[in-house]
Amino acid sequence: MSPYSSCQRGCVIHLPNALRLSLYVGRHVEGVSHPFRPNMKLPRPAAFLLLLLALSAVASTAHDFDFFYFVQQWPGSYCDTRQSCCYPSTGKPASDFGIHGLWPNYNDGSYPANCDPDRPYDASEMSDLMGGMQANWPTLACPSGDGSSFWSHEWRKHGTCSESLLDQRSYFQAALDLKKQVDLLKVLQDAGIRPDGGFYSLRGIAGAVREAIGYTPGIQCNVDESGNRQLHQIYLCVDAWGKELIECPVFPRSKCSSRVEFPPF
Ligand code: 5GP
Ligand code: 5GP
Repeated sequence: MSPYSSCQRGCVIHLPNALRLSLYVGRHVEGVSHPFRPNMKLPRPAAFLLLLLALSAVASTAHDFDFFYFVQQWPGSYCDTRQSCCYPSTGKPASDFGIHGLWPNYNDGSYPANCDPDRPYDASEMSDLMGGMQANWPTLACPSGDGSSFWSHEWRKHGTCSESLLDQRSYFQAALDLKKQVDLLKVLQDAGIRPDGGFYSLRGIAGAVREAIGYTPGIQCNVDESGNRQLHQIYLCVDAWGKELIECPVFPRSKCSSRVEFPPF
């Protein structure tokens, strides 16, 4: 049905719920002062204008998740968890945190996944990002690969759930930019926390990151062969545009102990 179906002396606007909501929200933004009543009669030009406002509000605010987790993994711990790992076909990665993913999330801790099977990973959109991807988002799973199956998995499972705001290239670019924005290894090393096989207090690790970026990180641990808890993944929270760090609305589940090992890689 047309949203403005009966336009003789006035227009009756039939809007889907999402449009109604954004029209209501947009009312404040756009400074429209009268309250919105669904199906109210309006002069035709005003109805068109309102419809345009509603559509632009939807275009500018619609996204179906609340924030991103930007997750980085410590390769030494990844290898210890699996009791093995395989270096990428492009060579041993640097001794640095690597990107695991940029994951759309809801404020209640749940998250969307596999949102658009019609938009598969397209390597051809990534050619100029390849150097950065290999250096910052290396794959450690076996058998060895060049990373494309890891990136394709991350795009399919997580990236397709933020495509209302970030297309594939922008999604991976946003993750690379975030990695550059926060050098986690340097932040920890500056606080005397080094990947030397020593044990460090979890509070100290979280505190060092908080001190450097202004926000508390989520920290996940794994257990190595000897039963030691290790620093495995650090979660930072990012706004839905993938740009600004934010305070985490909710933290991931964590199995860390009060002191955790930071193994070498
Ligand atoms: P695990 O069960 O090992 O913690 O997570 C397995 C996978 O589920 C992750 O690699 C990620 O793809 C997804 N996942 C786990 N927890 C979260 C979460 O809190 N938010 C999002 N968006 N994905 C998650
Ligand atoms: P997730 O846990 O994010 O849902 O799934 C990660 C998928 O990517 C798994 O199938 C895993 O085998 C693969 N993968 C490839 N390389 C890596 C890596 O370096 N780290 C992690 N966590 N998963 C990887």
